Amino acid sequence: MADIPVEILSEIKIDKLVRSKRKSFSLEITRDAKLILRVPEKASLADIQKVLDRKKRWILKNQNLAREKTSGITAKEFVTVKEFWYLGELYKLQVINNHAVLPLTFNNGFYLSHSHLDNAREVFIRWYIDQAGAKIAERVNHYSLLSGLKYNRINITNARRRWGSCSNRGNLSFSWRAVMAPLSVIDYLAVHELVHTEEMSHSTKFWGKVKALCPDYEQHKKWLRDNHQLLSLF
Ligand SMILES: [Zn+2]
Repeated sequence: MADIPVEILSEIKIDKLVRSKRKSFSLEITRDAKLILRVPEKASLADIQKVLDRKKRWILKNQNLAREKTSGITAKEFVTVKEFWYLGELYKLQVINNHAVLPLTFNNGFYLSHSHLDNAREVFIRWYIDQAGAKIAERVNHYSLLSGLKYNRINITNARRRWGSCSNRGNLSFSWRAVMAPLSVIDYLAVHELVHTEEMSHSTKFWGKVKALCPDYEQHKKWLRDNHQLLSLF
């Protein structure tokens, strides 16, 4: 399972595309983190994609900044949240003064190096992405071996509205936020998306196959419904 490619997908979405008689491309991030793209009248989709690829970091950075402003959580205030979810439990955050090798360590609690206070939010997200990549790939692989259901690859996304999805090419995507959920719930998500490789719709047949692999799935579905706010925590 070491060779499962885990790719960090950025969800760049154009909110508004304006074509006009201009020669250059311009990008704007609005106060509510929307992306407005102004392009020359005859710009092709490939041209637009190229610009998006090149400016990906800039777009994500500025959208995050805009969201921080509107959500009220700035990087500095972030650490005052004090407790963070991991595998269904809340753990305390402590800021440590020594020059730790890693910006963030986990040992029955979170330890953030003081020198990373200013980018605590990014450090946390990076940590969650790493954990999600390892944990989710492990569980998907387990259920794939168990059921014989084959998938192509696993992507860890930044999705704020969906825990997981499955493409018609058998690529499974999961939000890094899923690793905040209990392991039994992660198992349900893994099974849910794996079954989609055979049954694309939520048919009776689909739920039957989910239940065969995950008998308590209804309870896990409820957990996700009840804790949906975790997706938009930060
Ligand atoms: Zn589904």
